[in-house]
Amino acid sequence: MSQPIYAIYGASGCGRSLMPVARQQLYREGVNSEIYFIDDSLQEQQIVNGHIALNYQSFKDLDAPQKYVLIAIANSQIREKLANQIIRDGLQLWTVHADNIVMMDNIEIGEGAALSPFVSITSNIKIGKCFHANLYSYVEHDCVIGDYVTFAPGVKCNGNIHIQDHAYIGAGAVIKQGTANKPLVIGRGAIVGMGAVVTKDVPPNVTVVGNPARVLEKN
Ligand code: UDP
Repeated sequence: MSQPIYAIYGASGCGRSLMPVARQQLYREGVNSEIYFIDDSLQEQQIVNGHIALNYQSFKDLDAPQKYVLIAIANSQIREKLANQIIRDGLQLWTVHADNIVMMDNIEIGEGAALSPFVSITSNIKIGKCFHANLYSYVEHDCVIGDYVTFAPGVKCNGNIHIQDHAYIGAGAVIKQGTANKPLVIGRGAIVGMGAVVTKDVPPNVTVVGNPARVLEKN
């Protein structure tokens, strides 16, 4: 094979939703290549939604000059583990975005991102590795987002917000804007529950829920 090949890692919900976005991207770029699913639960090759699905070892064994992989798994710890493996093995992390996303000025975005349909990223924004922004999410001006951050659908991330590595923001959450001098900070590994209205900083590794969002105490 003389052409690069492409894969979506994860053939569950997240992966099957991102496959059409990936197909759209190759079509937009005029690339006529196969896109595989990789899923380690598979002992044998299968067809999933019209695409060949195989495990990582079998994908690595395919003959191609370059291999691009989008990790389409919502769990950020798994994303980090697989991203490190992919880089160690000499494969490339693939960034995929829908045709209709909006991207404004001065955006820096790390490799391996997945930007679903209707996502908007405005101006002066820095985002780390393997960011997932699901359907209709937005990131407003002057935000800084770390590595392996996940937005479920419809997240409203307003201006001057800093979100640290591995934070997970649930569907429809609204995060109040910070200021240039005092950004609102969502700590590393924090989880923001769906529909939460976040009005102040969230410490690392806690879950917040409700309006206004409060820390959910563990029983
Ligand atoms: N998976 C994998 N290798 C791993 C971890 C997970 O292939 O090391 C696959 C797993 O078999 C499953 C998918 O990734 O098919 C994750 O699916 P899940 O429904 O847990 O989450 P989502 O699709 O919502 O991210």
